[in-house]
Amino acid sequence: MAHPIESRRVIVLRKTKLGESDLILRCLGQDGSLVEAVAKGARKPTSSFASRLELYSCADVLLAQGRGLAIVKEARLVEGNAALRSSFERSVAAAPAAELLTRVAQPDLVHPRLFDLTRAAFDRLARAEGPAVLALVAAHLLKAMAMVGFQPSFSACSRCGAPVDLDAAPSCVPFSFLEGGVVCPACRAHVETTVQATETLRWARYLLSARLDEVAAVGIGADAAAGALRFDQAWIKVHADCRLKSLEFLFTSGLQAV
Ligand SMILES: [Zn+2]
Repeated sequence: MAHPIESRRVIVLRKTKLGESDLILRCLGQDGSLVEAVAKGARKPTSSFASRLELYSCADVLLAQGRGLAIVKEARLVEGNAALRSSFERSVAAAPAAELLTRVAQPDLVHPRLFDLTRAAFDRLARAEGPAVLALVAAHLLKAMAMVGFQPSFSACSRCGAPVDLDAAPSCVPFSFLEGGVVCPACRAHVETTVQATETLRWARYLLSARLDEVAAVGIGADAAAGALRFDQAWIKVHADCRLKSLEFLFTSGLQAV
């Protein structure tokens, strides 16, 4: 019986070996859903899939839907993003973005803006240098979390809604990852908070709201970018209920000292 064929535009997030020569692909679909498919023979050197379904590349695929995982019948490369695989610095930076998406994207859940965000972030990452690399991944992680429903509050108390002005705040302010944002002095005794450097929160606020082109050009320092990434890590741990292994690796790679 012929299986229905479906055409999808995807970004490859993860490749897992299957059997002798096949791959399971986990991809982000254009509607922001998770697309999982088997690429048969993709690990053979002669396979045309090998060069068209590389990690972090964007491709148009034809999928045969069966009872189990879909099967890739054809693939056409749209953007290779080779620079994200050929440079250690960029591949380490792209990995947490991809890993987060494999955690928060679901097969039946649509988040249309996630795809455009990720495509744009990979495009900018492929050309970025120095701390801008870290700033771009920090911005992607935070924006992606906001798009799936977990946007931190930097301007209103996360318990009572009272305004909190980070621009007039002292050097450290109370922040509740669990409540979802900054906490006003009146609420501080009523919720569990951590003390965050105001500068880190200002940077996180900027990375959340700025366009990726602005993030790439802003001239953030390495310490500030690393601080924003550590903020993202804590935010993701609480709200996506996971520790990104690739982000842990980034912190041990020495990359944040660029
Ligand atoms: Zn409050």
